[in-house]
Amino acid sequence: MPPRPLDARALAALAANPGCRRRALLDGAGVDKGALASALGAPAAFGQSQFAFVRGNAFEARVVADGGAELIRLLCAHTDGTPATPPEPAEVTVPDLAADGPAGRTARTRIALEEATAAGRWALLRHPMVSLEIAGSAAYLEPDAIAVRPDGGWTVIEIKSFPILDGSADPAKVGAAARQAAVYALALEQLPGGAGRVRSEALLVCPKDFSNLPTAAPVDLRKQLASTRRQLKRLTRLDEIADTVPDGTRFDPALPGEELTAAVDTVPAEYAPECLASCELAFHCRAQARTAGTVASLGRAVRGELGGLTTVDAVLTAAHGEGADAADAADAPDATDAASADAADTAGPVDDPAAAALRRAARLRAEALEHLEHTAPPAHTAAPAHTAPPVRQSPDAEAACR
Ligand code: SF4
Repeated sequence: MPPRPLDARALAALAANPGCRRRALLDGAGVDKGALASALGAPAAFGQSQFAFVRGNAFEARVVADGGAELIRLLCAHTDGTPATPPEPAEVTVPDLAADGPAGRTARTRIALEEATAAGRWALLRHPMVSLEIAGSAAYLEPDAIAVRPDGGWTVIEIKSFPILDGSADPAKVGAAARQAAVYALALEQLPGGAGRVRSEALLVCPKDFSNLPTAAPVDLRKQLASTRRQLKRLTRLDEIADTVPDGTRFDPALPGEELTAAVDTVPAEYAPECLASCELAFHCRAQARTAGTVASLGRAVRGELGGLTTVDAVLTAAHGEGADAADAADAPDATDAASADAADTAGPVDDPAAAALRRAARLRAEALEHLEHTAPPAHTAAPAHTAPPVRQSPDAEAACR
């Protein structure tokens, strides 16, 4: 099967979950994760809708229809350090970047950048290609455009189809675009002389309000650059991951379900709820995380709070286990000895501060339920005619509470 090329969107998602070896290996091998998820019986409605795709293409074609003059005008109007008056269209070079294969296009892009920078002139590179080494393997990436300014600065331009309404856009979409632009900027930094030339401010071009007219906003990439750089460094090398996979393992969607599941299981995953927004295998990995009872399926924040308790069973044992009795005794009304209270808080099956917090939470919950039972009137007691009937939760609400 032809491998699927890694794009900046996938790289940004990979950088957001650097601990997931499964995604790293499948992406590195160019496996179609969408087809894989469907074959595993857990398809995810993931990615751009066809409507958004067509709309995005139409908008981009409109924005660049005049040879890029509109993009350069927006760049001058919205970014620092550019002349207030945009150059005439004839002053902007749009080099031909066509070449055979990604390696050829990457070389053409590098040459075009070097020539425009040396000439000190405006240039607009449309759909250039840059490469970035990810976990020991080269990935080829295609930004929407890169502008070269007469002062030698390179600006990444991202063209998106979501609107900027009254000067602001959906923060989640802007964040995703910034992460993508940061990946492109990192790839540009790897080029000879690129480190000092890439601007840490990208230009985001979107439709204005509900029209098809373009507008733009600068996007500060410094934070995304730092975090993406750090996360990509944390990725385990692909050859190290591949060494742990048995010989002959295949991720062929045509394989029988059990065989395919076993193949996918040979590579450990690191599921987090954020996967639902960024990875085609999310439903499969979520089901596995739930079956295994790991606290990872509850989110990174909960997992962090629980310290060394990694499974729901361990959490329940810590909350109701042997330490709970001691803690209850210490919290009893006649327990005045501070030392015994301290001992109770540190007692438990797991030597972890989270265990003491869980025991306390379990105790408070038990007290609340006991209080609820004592204050609720017996079912056979009729309410006096002159008083309002006591408020009581329905059996369903009580069950939900429990
Ligand atoms: S969904 Fe699975 S494979 Fe994808 S990033 Fe999450 S854990 Fe990794």
